[in-house]
Amino acid sequence: MSTSIQVLVVGAGPVGTVLACELTQQGVRVRLIDRDERAGPADPHSRAILVWPRSLEVLRRIGASEALVAAGHRSSGVRYYSGGRLLGTADLGTLADSPYPFVLALPQSRTEQVLRRRLAELGGAVEHGVTLVDLDDTGERPVATLRHADGTIERATADYVVGADGPASAVRTLLGIRFDGDPVDVTYAIGDVVVGGPAPADLQYYYSRHGVVALVPLGGGRFRIAANVPHRDVADGPPPRELLQRILDERARVPLTITDLLWTRSFRPRLGLAETFQKGRCFLAGDAAHVISPAGGQGMNVGFQDAVNLGWRLGGVLRGRLPATALSGYDPERRAAAARMSRTSAAQARFALQRGTARIALRDAAFIAGRAAGLVRRILVPLLSQTDVHYGSAGTHPLAWRRGPVQPGQRVPLAGMPPLAPYAFTMLLWPGSRTPTGWAAAVARLRSKAPADMPVHDLSATAGRARRALRRALGARPRVAVVRPDGHLSRLTPLHTT
Ligand SMILES: Cc1cc2nc3c(=O)[nH]c(=O)nc-3n(C[C@H](O)[C@H](O)[C@H](O)COP(=O)(O)OP(=O)(O)OC[C@H]3O[C@@H](n4cnc5c(N)ncnc54)[C@H](O)[C@@H]3O)c2cc1C
Repeated sequence: MSTSIQVLVVGAGPVGTVLACELTQQGVRVRLIDRDERAGPADPHSRAILVWPRSLEVLRRIGASEALVAAGHRSSGVRYYSGGRLLGTADLGTLADSPYPFVLALPQSRTEQVLRRRLAELGGAVEHGVTLVDLDDTGERPVATLRHADGTIERATADYVVGADGPASAVRTLLGIRFDGDPVDVTYAIGDVVVGGPAPADLQYYYSRHGVVALVPLGGGRFRIAANVPHRDVADGPPPRELLQRILDERARVPLTITDLLWTRSFRPRLGLAETFQKGRCFLAGDAAHVISPAGGQGMNVGFQDAVNLGWRLGGVLRGRLPATALSGYDPERRAAAARMSRTSAAQARFALQRGTARIALRDAAFIAGRAAGLVRRILVPLLSQTDVHYGSAGTHPLAWRRGPVQPGQRVPLAGMPPLAPYAFTMLLWPGSRTPTGWAAAVARLRSKAPADMPVHDLSATAGRARRALRRALGARPRVAVVRPDGHLSRLTPLHTT
């Protein structure tokens, strides 16, 4: 059997499903296949649990954020303890420029359900029981060999193929793309539990000389416990309740008792980063492209931004709105963002796993000093929430942050803003601190000059919190900001009213 399509997405995990939503919404003919024959989420057990603010911002593009928020449990911040003492709080409520100033706890299986439902609403579907077994990228268009559950073999020719097929990606292997990783050898024990006692309302990280444990409220009295453990403690199977209770007692030192163990598992991730996210007309996204330390709970969130970044480019090119060269921005932007998140997640894990009294005292003192200097609010909160993801050359170091107007490639604040065009560039006209004379005429002039498919928004009426966020982002003087479909700044130029 031979078929022809515009885009073949291999893997209907969270990342492949978001990409399929993006493309379906733009009217692109896309097929989303998954080797799993079950119609439910690919992994019945919950892996990712945290959805960070920037993910909710970008998932607004496909109309999925509100359903996710309604299904999940919000934590307003992350509290860090050491030896039972509070070191500081990463308060996501300080993200004044985001419509989602909180972290959402939602089991990955539920996240996948919400995304698949959204795909169905948009007119798409997952093809279950279809496995990619070969990929020939030597011709003008890639040809995928697909094996159906009944044994039928199909050769599908596609304009583009995207591998969103997880850490052991067949697409990556068949394209011969190397996958290198840091030799971080840590075993994690996780469990979803019901606890009795004074349970915390927010996400907690407890550092201790025995290791670290994270306690994530899931709502309804349920919690996710995640902790590093010696390999030998879980060599005989999933972590038992006694182990998780001992971890809580020793590391968190809070009077909580596990009354019910709902689900438990241990795992030893193999971290890695693909040497490239694009080969010709084939792309990698999500865990197929990067496996990040689970310590920061960021892996799936990085994948969402891959899907969105690739989605508007692929859709634009296939609909003839963007030149094919627009696709070449995907690999450098997303590989740099994933590499940066790999480094910072690994650094967080090392920071948490200090051993020895002197090192622990030093780590705690560094945290407290950093908090006093405002670094938790200025660096840690944007890093965790992924609102600091940027595609410019400026500030690629994890500890870099900028003052002054946003630079090309940085995220433009969304709170209180008119919606950006999802598949076109948007022009924002910002009057600065005080609206200058001649403003209305300048707005009319710029509107008449803008390309037909570029919405133009006059921001002079913005008030309150949103205005303050825009003042911080766009500066005190009148400016024209051209913003990409994914909310990153393309150009910022002075706006002259005379
Ligand atoms: C224990 C654990 C906890 C985690 N916690 C977090 C967290 O809190 N926050 C976070 O952001 N991330 C977390 N992660 C990471 C997160 O689970 C992954 O980043 C996420 O699942 C990646 O999604 P994906 O769609 O790229 O790949 P996957 O979810 O792996 O989906 C890949 C899909 O491809 C299909 N497939 C594979 N091969 C083929 C083939 N040849 N043909 C057809 N289909 C194929 C599979 O069946 C699967 O459905 C955690 C991971 C683990 C293991």
